[in-house]
Amino acid sequence: MTQPVIITVAITGAVPRKKDSPAIPVTPAEQVESTHEAFEAGASLVHIHVRNPDESPGSAPELYAQVQEGVRKHCPGMIVQFSTGGRGREQAKRGAMLYLKPDMASLATGSVNFPVGIYENPPDFVEGLARTMLENGIKPEIEVFDLSMLYNAANLVKKGLVKERPHVQFVMGVPNAMPARRSVFDFLRAEIEDVLPGATWVAAGIGPHQWEVNQWCLESGGHCRTGLEDNLRITPDRLAASNAELVQKIVDACAQYDRRPASPAEARQLLGLAPVH
Ligand code: MG
Repeated sequence: MTQPVIITVAITGAVPRKKDSPAIPVTPAEQVESTHEAFEAGASLVHIHVRNPDESPGSAPELYAQVQEGVRKHCPGMIVQFSTGGRGREQAKRGAMLYLKPDMASLATGSVNFPVGIYENPPDFVEGLARTMLENGIKPEIEVFDLSMLYNAANLVKKGLVKERPHVQFVMGVPNAMPARRSVFDFLRAEIEDVLPGATWVAAGIGPHQWEVNQWCLESGGHCRTGLEDNLRITPDRLAASNAELVQKIVDACAQYDRRPASPAEARQLLGLAPVH
């Protein structure tokens, strides 16, 4: 039977909008509009970073609230996921918006080098974020930027800080972190079955690796993540016109791999999230 694929769209990220990235949505209105287009194209999950009025990475809960409200209104059932990522914001503010109870929030389970500097996630900080998510009924998306983070996630499950059958994202191709190599991808898939039985997973390929990793996921039963946060190009020599265009590229390839885009209701069921009433 054709297997559904949850398509995540990471609409914004923390990279500054420049001449070569005009399509990145940064105001809440732009973000809601871009999410709606991606939703119409077949995305069922949106990963959200917010931006301050000067377009720098933001952490204001009001901004998250505005985007969440717009997405809930215009994209019925779509899964809302807030980023608790570190680029451009202080550690103490990274979970400040979780009281808004999005469906999901990202949770990196260890530290790693990024292109410039360290993405710092000390054990007590990770546990604190996990606990806040648990208390607010938020499902984490475990972000695995490097190998140890997979096993750290399994430890969080053992400690009762993350529920069983978590959703895990393998982030591949960030310079200085885990490379986008097929051998690594296959190893991660085998390991997750062993250390986190029943977990669902998605992989993200960063920059030029996005499409390649999307295809690996379609082929091997994983879910897919795309969007301008990870990559600005639809082909090596052409910028993507929008987040929706990147989503459409996956949707168009689905049949070739005997997959189909999951509806929001299916995506919720696959991830064990409450249905939307
Ligand atoms: Mg992110």
